[in-house]
Amino acid sequence: MIRVTAVEPESIAEELGLQAGTELVSVNGRELEDFLDWEFLTAEEEMLLHVRQPDGEEIEFDIERPLGERLGVSLEPARIRRCANRCDFCFVDGLPDGLRDVLYIRDDDYRLSFRYGNFATLTNLKPRDTERIIEYRLSPLYVSVHATDPTVRRYLLRNPTAPEILPQLRTFADHGIQFHTQIVMSPGVNDGEVLEQTLRELYDFGPEILGCSVVPVGLTEYSKHHLVREPTAEECRAAIGLVDARAAIALRERGIHWALGADELYLRAGVELPPADIYDDFDQVENGVGSVRWLQRQIERGAGGLPVWSGRRIGVVTGTAMAPLMPMVLEPLARATGGVYELIPVVNTLFGPSVTTAGLLPGTALQQALAGRRDLDLALLPGEVVNDDGIFMDGMRLDLLAGTVPMELRLSKDFVDALQEPAAA
Ligand code: SF4
Repeated sequence: MIRVTAVEPESIAEELGLQAGTELVSVNGRELEDFLDWEFLTAEEEMLLHVRQPDGEEIEFDIERPLGERLGVSLEPARIRRCANRCDFCFVDGLPDGLRDVLYIRDDDYRLSFRYGNFATLTNLKPRDTERIIEYRLSPLYVSVHATDPTVRRYLLRNPTAPEILPQLRTFADHGIQFHTQIVMSPGVNDGEVLEQTLRELYDFGPEILGCSVVPVGLTEYSKHHLVREPTAEECRAAIGLVDARAAIALRERGIHWALGADELYLRAGVELPPADIYDDFDQVENGVGSVRWLQRQIERGAGGLPVWSGRRIGVVTGTAMAPLMPMVLEPLARATGGVYELIPVVNTLFGPSVTTAGLLPGTALQQALAGRRDLDLALLPGEVVNDDGIFMDGMRLDLLAGTVPMELRLSKDFVDALQEPAAA
């Protein structure tokens, strides 16, 4: 059963009398468990929908509608699948106490992997989940492989019962499912020969594996430093060498780079980022793979159409990781718009200075950085720094932050999106 949270005006659902609180019980006799069932089972033009209204009345609707016309309901969020692993590098273990409860949930959910590109290990799949992935053809899935060697993978995941990943992927691939994969590299465990083997075996698996990224393990002040450490520059350079060797083979044989390093791997290695064209379709940009080159490309494509910002001062808030690379990103933006852009790198006061990603910055750190800046007309904040409800990692609300700083704030994914409208005078 799935509960309706809202009904669109003038939709089929409104016409039927569905309302917030209506329980969607089954479609064509098949029970509904979550949004996947709802989307896939209601994809046909005709269906028999069984609902339970908030007053307990049960109704069956025989629905016929033009293909593509939405039924018009919003559903309560699916209950997140909990993770069955205990990785030493788990970000959840690296959180300080006292944050919102939801942040301590270890999710490992194939449904979110399909829908949002969240990485899942597939170690918590029940037979019913496997059936659904196949039946609904949930493709591509984003899979955290880490190591193809079952022993190493179980060690990394701290899960002695994790199934072997390659046969598991094969089961799905035989039904037409494709994968984006990642390896979170933990030095001394899955770098070196293990990394070489993992890249090779994933590549040899076949074209169903669309690509593989290598991401260096990232820790906070609170992580299990006695069990895991971040890779050195030299270890990152060695990993880049393996990525490049595999990418060279892939380019020759399949015409794509396939193996990619996260931007963080290059930053840690002190090696220049590769050019934009190696990132194929930027499939893992949300995973920090090619983010800087993607940003540059977005600016290159969009900056010409922006209004003039001459004489306006714009603060660009970022984490400390990207700060050294941002001048080359902002320079074409300044040239195209005439604005004066000032980079504002902010140290993470919540997780410690080792966490350098912009998206994890707490609201209080931004407040400290911006409160005294009366000279700025506008400050651009990383789009991913707040959740869908406008809340920062530390629980501060964006609207409250906006009330305590002297300039206008705008969230931005690529700058171009936030500069379309002139700042208030
Ligand atoms: S798979 Fe590992 S890193 Fe991911 S949530 Fe589970 S324990 Fe944490």
